[in-house]
Amino acid sequence: TKTERPIANTSDLRISFEFFPPKSPEMDEQLWQTVEALQAYQPDFVSVTYGAGGTTREPTLATVKRLITETPLSTASHLTCVGATREEVRAVVEEFQAAGVRHFVALRGDPQGGVGTRYAPHPGGYVNAADLVSGLRDMGDFEISVSAYPERHPESENDVVDLDMLKQKVDAGATRALTQFFFDNDIFERYLERVRAAGITIPIVPGIMPIQNLTQLKRFAAMCGASIPAFVDARFEGSEGDPRARAAIAAEIAAEQIADLSRSGLQDFHIYTMNRAPLTIATLERLGVSTQTGNVSGAAA
Ligand code: FAD
Repeated sequence: TKTERPIANTSDLRISFEFFPPKSPEMDEQLWQTVEALQAYQPDFVSVTYGAGGTTREPTLATVKRLITETPLSTASHLTCVGATREEVRAVVEEFQAAGVRHFVALRGDPQGGVGTRYAPHPGGYVNAADLVSGLRDMGDFEISVSAYPERHPESENDVVDLDMLKQKVDAGATRALTQFFFDNDIFERYLERVRAAGITIPIVPGIMPIQNLTQLKRFAAMCGASIPAFVDARFEGSEGDPRARAAIAAEIAAEQIADLSRSGLQDFHIYTMNRAPLTIATLERLGVSTQTGNVSGAAA
């Protein structure tokens, strides 16, 4: 059975963590506790989201600066080009560069009217993420990651159009793609086949979302076109009102997902931490990733 199988290559796992800039003193406190707890797992890098939910560059810059000055973590900043001229983007990039940022996660960003409205590029700005990537390439010797959508982006008419956008971003100089979260590994494997068949060779890093709150996640997933397979509901069934049980189930699902993908040779995983440590830690512990070395501690899932 699944539980008896050893987790393949756990010692080779390279994990990255995603954070978002805090919006209140309480959230600030929570983020830094999370960072402190998770840095012991020696992530390959961490990243901080940008501009989502109506925020500007300031909170991202402040968070990135603190990560760079106060922790040993390799820190990437997300960057979007929505609603900004090329000059404004350049000024932001220079500011982040001065703060020590060498790795950007380059994104178009959601339409300013919110998800579901039509995206309109700023007249003086970058037209899409691929255009932003080539702009960044010209600005400095940055590591550039981009997004990828195993279940395609809601604005893409079909898989071909969606893959073409990824191809354009890679041709423009992106060296890694981080995926939208997904729960069905078969969907990812099929996507990866299509990506490779399109001649795209950069690492496609699965985005893993440990489920903090299934109801909220369903709402969010519907907006970004990610599916939640029936097995997820089935696993949580009967655990209503038992937060500890639900957390254990969530960690189990995430750990199994990573273990399963690692058996097919994947090593890099990007975890959406939601600025909370416990569930990410529970997931890593299940995988046998230890705090000391980032290597196997002997545990089996
Ligand atoms: P692109 O790669 O440019 O396009 C995404 C898809 O949309 C493409 O596949 C393309 O086919 C389709 N598309 C684009 N334009 C058109 C068009 N005109 N007609 C038809 N189809 C079109 N958002 C934030 O605001 N801040 C963040 O920090 C952030 N971080 C993210 C991190 C990851 C790993 C991911 C997966 C997403 C993140 N997002 C973030 C969300 C992202 O900004 C949105 O999904 C946005 O709508 C698309 O940006 P993109 O860079 O993925 O777009």
